[in-house]
Amino acid sequence: MVRLKGLRAVTSFAACNGCGLCVDNCFTRALSVHEGKLLRNDSRCKGCGRCAAVCPEKAITLEVDDVAEAVKDIMGRIEQRVSID
Ligand code: SF4
Ligand code: SF4
Repeated sequence: MVRLKGLRAVTSFAACNGCGLCVDNCFTRALSVHEGKLLRNDSRCKGCGRCAAVCPEKAITLEVDDVAEAVKDIMGRIEQRVSID
């Protein structure tokens, strides 16, 4: 799984309560909680959004730098698997 171009998970530290639920649900082990603060290893993050989906405080959002570039990336991936005429 390759992260979508320009996609990143962003944490609102004001909203995060340090419960660790996102840590338990991150399949790449990109997350950890240290002294109540959520830490993310961006080089491990695949941008799947699972952490954002399970967070009870809605403290994580997925953001895309350039939507047009992201769509181009998605289309490129689809075209690798499906013939589009
Ligand atoms: S699930 Fe949400 S509130 Fe809990 S540690 Fe993760 S970001 Fe913070
Ligand atoms: S987006 Fe996915 S890979 Fe990245 S930190 Fe969240 S659960 Fe882990």
